[in-house]
Amino acid sequence: MPKIQTTGPKPLTDQEIIKAFPQARRIIPAKIREWKVVRKSVLDNVRAAIERGKGYDPDTRAVCFELVMMILGLKLDEIDRHLTRLWRLKNLMDGKESADQITDEMIERARSFPIESLDGLEMRKAGRLYRGLCPFHSERGASFTVYPDGGGFFCFGCGKGGDAIAFSQLKYGHSFKQAVRFLAGGMAS
Ligand SMILES: [Zn+2]
Repeated sequence: MPKIQTTGPKPLTDQEIIKAFPQARRIIPAKIREWKVVRKSVLDNVRAAIERGKGYDPDTRAVCFELVMMILGLKLDEIDRHLTRLWRLKNLMDGKESADQITDEMIERARSFPIESLDGLEMRKAGRLYRGLCPFHSERGASFTVYPDGGGFFCFGCGKGGDAIAFSQLKYGHSFKQAVRFLAGGMAS
């Protein structure tokens, strides 16, 4: 009796993908550049929207602000997911990282780390958001915003934004890998 195959072929590992598709060497760096441009244009649009909002009354501005944060959170989250994946592939290609060092699970755990609880930040809860002084530029008002729903941060003063991994890269000078270890390994808490 012939054996009935119940499972499909195993999905390729990242290393196998790179071996199987040599053109990845060319495509991946180009894709990283593309996503960086998209990321910048999202942030530029938000900055422009905030500027335009300055002419309106505080209530209207607050509603617009919430909306912008929601959309920004979702978009940045999606963009950063792509960038994270591409960076991992690129590091693998460059021999900078072996596949087993950082797992997707670790990256997920690092990304969902609550930024507002990190050292050196004094955040106040404002609705679903947290606000506080920006650690990246000097200011008196609280432009630095953490949006836990989208798992990211954005500063309306200096325009810096991203997920928890990007935050610890910027704040502590970590490499991507160090940031993931720091956040996923519980060292941050
Ligand atoms: Zn700032």
